[in-house]
Amino acid sequence: MLKLSAGLACAWLALSIAVAAQQPAAAITAIRAGRLLDPEGGRILPNQIIVVEGNRIREVGPNVTIPPGAQVIDLSAMTVMPGLVDSHNHLALTYKPEPESNVYYYTYVQESTALRAIEAASNGMQMLAAGFTVVRDLGNNGNYADTALRQAIDQGWLPGPTIINSGIIIGGMGGQFFPPPEMVKDHNIVYPEYLDADTPDEIVKAVRQNILFGAKVIKICVDCKPYGYTADEIRLFIREAAKAGMKVAGHVQTPAGAKNAIDAGIWSIEHGGALNDDLHKQMAAKGIWRAGTETPTGLQGHPVSAEAYVRTVAGLKNAFENKVLSVFSTDADYFVAGRTRGELCLEFLKPWKDAGIPNADILRAITTNGYRVADIDKARGPIKPGYFADLIALPGNPLDNVDALKNVQFVMKDGLVFKRDGVMTPAAFFHAGPVNGWRIR
Ligand SMILES: [Zn+2]
Repeated sequence: MLKLSAGLACAWLALSIAVAAQQPAAAITAIRAGRLLDPEGGRILPNQIIVVEGNRIREVGPNVTIPPGAQVIDLSAMTVMPGLVDSHNHLALTYKPEPESNVYYYTYVQESTALRAIEAASNGMQMLAAGFTVVRDLGNNGNYADTALRQAIDQGWLPGPTIINSGIIIGGMGGQFFPPPEMVKDHNIVYPEYLDADTPDEIVKAVRQNILFGAKVIKICVDCKPYGYTADEIRLFIREAAKAGMKVAGHVQTPAGAKNAIDAGIWSIEHGGALNDDLHKQMAAKGIWRAGTETPTGLQGHPVSAEAYVRTVAGLKNAFENKVLSVFSTDADYFVAGRTRGELCLEFLKPWKDAGIPNADILRAITTNGYRVADIDKARGPIKPGYFADLIALPGNPLDNVDALKNVQFVMKDGLVFKRDGVMTPAAFFHAGPVNGWRIR
């Protein structure tokens, strides 16, 4: 171990102080918010001033002094609120009517991971422009395009939401695909879209692979195949993920699979189709998150039958009545002409409205609860001192009309302005190097 002499240590300290003195002071911005929405409390606070220093919120209140030299942003005609969260998306997957007939098995055959990573970067900016400052990205991203996106954003190469990514979805052999033997055995055409884990050893190894390659949450296919996971196997996933402080999200499509996931104490159940009144009661009792991914009717090219939509809305309503912890989640991983990815995701407010859920609760699902399911609520979310400065602004009051969220005019991410007066202004986010640090993995 290197030992510094007292003199050398003093010189080093003096040098450190000199270098620190040369660092430019963090930029200070003061935002005048006409209405500040507190989603946790379901209330509007009029005429607030938010002081942002560097990437964090420093002060908030009606009588805050604007520091001299601060850049002032006037949002006094707007509602300012925390950024939105889509708790289930796949930014490096965009299946399309052409050429793959909306079948993502063919997307994966047609598009390289490299192309999909670039799509993800574009989709991320489209999400941010619509007001989504956090996206939980749950797999189907080729060979870790999701990790690449998160690292690129976190290291400071380009703008994007905070990404909580799963890496490759882990499942029993074949994942969610049903390929013929030739494709699997001769051409390996399932991988890397899914990671097979059919035994306890393989479960441990698959979790470790995803942790090594940059996952922030572990996503499993609970019951995509008749050989789905038992409650004990899911517990093994949970134990192994917990070593890295990670939670397990389970894709669930059958009541039996849901029961196993609930018994195991999984963190979140993805997709609400298999959940019924009894399962909702069990989820509420255990505090298990519900990311229902409710698809609205009327999306061009993605028809939902009237019967299916009635079931979707009834399921959401039942979850709400049972006080299940619920998040706004879309699974909107496809292309609808004329819509950005972010605009598409906001169409998913419709089932929440049709379920008769009060606007204040919809707003909690798309903000507060999203931060909690993403497990980042200690650092991001509330517009309070010490939290990262992620906030959006829009005309109107979403407590009166939740569709006001479709008109986000201003977006700040990590203290930098990404959108202003309805126009993306991302220049401050682009860098030719990893300005936040290459060690961010
Ligand atoms: Zn999904």
